Amino acid sequence: MRRIAARIDEVVESQVHRVIAIDQISDSWTPDIRYLVLVNEKSEIEEVVKLRSAGLTNIGWIESADIEIDDVVVPQAKKSVAIVLYRANDLHHSLLMTNQCNSYCLMCSQPPTKQNDSWLVREAIDVIRHIRISPVVLGLSGGEPLLLGSALRTVIDEIHRNHPNTKIEVLTNGRLFSDRVIAKAVLDELGNYVSWLVPLYGHADFIHDFVVQSPGAFDETIAGLLVLQEHKQPVQLRIVLIEPVLQILDELSSFIGRNLAFIREVALMACEPIGFALANREHCEVDLNDWEAQLVAAAKIFRRAKIPYLFMNAPLCSLPKILWADSHKSISDWKNVYTEECEKCSVKESCSGLFSWHETGWKPAKVKAIEETIA
Ligand code: SF4
Repeated sequence: MRRIAARIDEVVESQVHRVIAIDQISDSWTPDIRYLVLVNEKSEIEEVVKLRSAGLTNIGWIESADIEIDDVVVPQAKKSVAIVLYRANDLHHSLLMTNQCNSYCLMCSQPPTKQNDSWLVREAIDVIRHIRISPVVLGLSGGEPLLLGSALRTVIDEIHRNHPNTKIEVLTNGRLFSDRVIAKAVLDELGNYVSWLVPLYGHADFIHDFVVQSPGAFDETIAGLLVLQEHKQPVQLRIVLIEPVLQILDELSSFIGRNLAFIREVALMACEPIGFALANREHCEVDLNDWEAQLVAAAKIFRRAKIPYLFMNAPLCSLPKILWADSHKSISDWKNVYTEECEKCSVKESCSGLFSWHETGWKPAKVKAIEETIA
């Protein structure tokens, strides 16, 4: 979610709108979508006002250098701000389902809140209806989306109805799939267009439950993963590379290879230095260069178990060369930066770079320009 400064038509309400160009109106206008015309000139504002007087009451205007056609925004005219909920030109898209969560992870990038935020589901459905060009992938995140129960399925169905070719990725701790009622409400007769991104931080309860700060979470997560297998749902297991997890990475990788071979892939992720991670720095701040042996060993175990794996959020200079081909450019466009050192680097194009908030947090390793090329 980004707040962008904008001059906004005073009559538009603070609701979800699609940004449109003035010359698109005649082809695109429908009565059930709210539009904001991106204007540059006074004459365009006058045209919008004329159209509205002619009965097109779902049209207003917005003026901003940082808003683009097909963005989906909530205008706040009085504050001269637009909240961008969907940036059409981004590579990665996601919608926030809730801020509430049943875990309390040491490195949570978006610390949970207790307030009732069920309006987020209504807003997400509105955003889905206002997206003009279907994204390749749309993520649903939280908090914990499974806390929504059947409302999560409503959102999934709404995405599939409006954007049938879009793949959906739900970031969930999976614990509530151990509840048969919730599992049925969300998974019954669900097609194969949804992937479930489920974190697992240990091969046993003492470590997983410690990392997610929730007793019983390990057993529930494993039960949830088995329910996903039962429903033939694709799962990406996520391992965030913080110190307590790196200590047992070998055991965890072997556990996955032995017991969870049905999963689609494993993502090994450098920690995002924000939120609770900053408060739990002693556990979360690591230099991945110091853990090279553990990372290489984990990759070997997954290869042997024939489980695809990838590294996310890990710049190439934080990984040994043998793992470069497994590294993925995963940081969302708006959070992604490179340093001055990166300008001298021969592999910048293939590198995930850094989270923009590494300045107030830390880098996953010392950033060091690479001179060779990727084989
Ligand atoms: S120097 Fe920058 S571009 Fe090069 S590998 Fe490191 S983070 Fe990536």
